[in-house]
Amino acid sequence: MRFSKLLIPTTKETPNDATLASHIYLIRAGFIQSVGGSGLYNFLPLGKKVLDKVREVVKDELDKANCQEVSLSFVTPASLWQESGRFEKYGKELLRFKDRKNNNFILGPTHEEMMVNLARQTVKSYKQLPLNLYQINLKFRDEIRPRFGLMRGREFLMKDGYSFHASNEDLQREFALMEETYRKIFSRLGLDFRVVEADSGAIGGSGSKEFMVLADSGEDTIVVCDSCEYGANIEAAIRKEKTCVTEAPEAIFSKFNTPETKTIEALSSFFKVDSHYLVKTVAKKAIFDEGKTAVVLFALRGSDELQEVKACNAVGANDLLDIDEDELTKAGLVAGYMGPTVVPEGVGVVLDNSLKEATSMICGANEKDYHLVGNSFKGVKANYQDIVAVQEGDLCLYCAKPLRYTKGIEVGHIFQLGTQYSKPLGANFLDENGKAQPMIMGTYGIGVSRLLAAIIEQNHDDKGCIWTKESAPFDVHIIISNIKDEAQVNIGEKLYRELSNKGLDVLLDDRKDRFGAKIKDYELLGVPYGVIIGKKLQDGLVELVCRDGLAKEEVLENSILDAVLQKVL
Ligand code: ATP
Ligand code: MG
Repeated sequence: MRFSKLLIPTTKETPNDATLASHIYLIRAGFIQSVGGSGLYNFLPLGKKVLDKVREVVKDELDKANCQEVSLSFVTPASLWQESGRFEKYGKELLRFKDRKNNNFILGPTHEEMMVNLARQTVKSYKQLPLNLYQINLKFRDEIRPRFGLMRGREFLMKDGYSFHASNEDLQREFALMEETYRKIFSRLGLDFRVVEADSGAIGGSGSKEFMVLADSGEDTIVVCDSCEYGANIEAAIRKEKTCVTEAPEAIFSKFNTPETKTIEALSSFFKVDSHYLVKTVAKKAIFDEGKTAVVLFALRGSDELQEVKACNAVGANDLLDIDEDELTKAGLVAGYMGPTVVPEGVGVVLDNSLKEATSMICGANEKDYHLVGNSFKGVKANYQDIVAVQEGDLCLYCAKPLRYTKGIEVGHIFQLGTQYSKPLGANFLDENGKAQPMIMGTYGIGVSRLLAAIIEQNHDDKGCIWTKESAPFDVHIIISNIKDEAQVNIGEKLYRELSNKGLDVLLDDRKDRFGAKIKDYELLGVPYGVIIGKKLQDGLVELVCRDGLAKEEVLENSILDAVLQKVL
C-alpha cells in the first residue's frame, strides 16, 4: 500500500487524557481516534488492519481447536437477562434501554444468556455435544472509569466463547484445551504472559484462569512464585500459613482496659505483642440482590490485610462498601474496638481460616476502651473462610519460597461455569438414558481490542510502537527519502513490487514530505522492518532497519530483496 494514498493521520500531539504509551502511540500514529470523550474509539485504516490481524490469529487457533464461529445480536432482549437473574444484578455497567414499543433491551456486555438461548433452541441430545461456539464481536460496558485508550473502553471487541458438555469430565477436557489454545494465541502474538489462578466468584475452586500480559502499567496485581509455576491474581492468591517467631502472649481470658488504642499499631505497642496475635476486625456494608444490605465483620490476624474480592465472595454479596462511624454506631458497633466474638444482633461475621486454631488472641470487646485477651478459637464453630490478601514475601504454598507481586494486563479469562446459566434458562439435553439434564458449560473470553494496547505496552520505545510479527500492520515499510530522485523512486517501486509479489504486506512511503518526517512516522508506526532508500544509493547501498532497537545495516541494493525476505519469512 502507498502511504500517499492511505489515511494515516500521524500527529506529534499527545492527547490530553493519555498517560499510557499504548494510548498515546495508537492515537499519535493514527491507528485509532477517540470519539466524543470517554471510552469510545474509531478504528482508522491501520488500526482496523491490526485489529483484523489479531482477530485472525485468535480465529485461526480457535478453529483449529474445533470451535465454531457464530455472530450473535449485539442488542439483547432484557427478558433473557431476567431469566438468568442478571438484569437486576448487573449494576450500572449494563446499558439498558427501551425500543419504540416499550420493550426492554440491553447492549450485551457479555453473551452467556444469548448463547444459552441459542443452544437451548438447537441442542436436544447428548449426541450433539460437546459444542464450543464463539464470536468476535462488540461488547458494551458502561465502565465507571473508562481509561487508558483501548485498555478499558466502554465499547470494545471481545472474543467470547461458550462450551456445552454432557459431563463435567468433558468440560475439564475442553478447559485444558482452551488453556492450551490461548497459550498458542498469545505466544503467536509475541506476548510475554503468565497464566494465573483467578477469582471464581461464588462458584469457588480452581475453575478459573486468567491470561496476564506482564506490564508495569497493568491494572491487576498478580502474585507469582519465581521458584515454581504458581501464579494467581491477588483476588485468588493463596499462601503457606504464616507463623510468628515471637511466642504467643500468655494470658487467661479477661477484659482489659485499653484507652485510646484503636489501631493495630497502638494495640501492638500497648501489649508489646506481635500483630500476629491481634485480631483485626474490618466492618463492611454488604450489598445483596434487590438492594438488600447487611453489616458484616471480617476478622483476620493483625499482620494481615483484607482481600475485598475474597471477602465479597465469602458472604455471596454483589458488592462491599465502606461504612462510616454513624452507620457503625447504628449497628451497635464501637469503632476501634470491634471484635468477632462480641457481635450485636443482625451483624454478620466471617473469620479468616488462619484464626481457626488460633489461641492467645487479643481482640476488641466491642466496648469503648476495652479489649479481650486470651481468646481461643480452637473448636469454636464459626464461618471460617480465606479472606486475606497475600503479601509480598509470604511463602508459596507449593514450594515454600517467597512470593512476589507483579502487574498484569488481563487479556483472557477461561472459566468453568457448570450449570449456572443452563439451569435457570432451562437449557437441557437428553442424556443416554433419555433423561433431561442441564448442559454443563464453560466460558472463554479474550479482549481482542485490549490486545492492541497490551502489545504496545510491552513493545514500544520513546519513539513509538514496535509491533510484533503477527500483529504488525505491514511486514516491511519502504521509505523513499527523496521522491524527486528518479533512481530512488525506481528502486523503491521495484522493491515494493517484488516484495508484494512474494506475498509480503508492504507499505511504500512515496510521499513528497521531508525525509526527517518520514523517518519519524516510520518509528511511530512501528512496522518491524524498514528499508531506507536514500543518498547512499549512489554507492549502490540501501539501509535495512530493525524497528526493535533501530539497528541499521547497509545492504547492497541488488541484494536487499533477499535480505528482507530472510528477516521477514
Ligand atoms: P476487567 O477485570 O479488566 O474489568 P473483566 O473481568 O471484567 O475484566 P471479562 O468479563 O472476563 O473481563 O471479559 C473478558 C475479557 O474482555 C477480559 O479478559 C478483557 O481482556 C476484556 N475486557 C473486559 N473489559 C474490557 C474493557 N472495558 N475494555 C476492553 N477490554 C475489556
Ligand atoms: Mg470488568
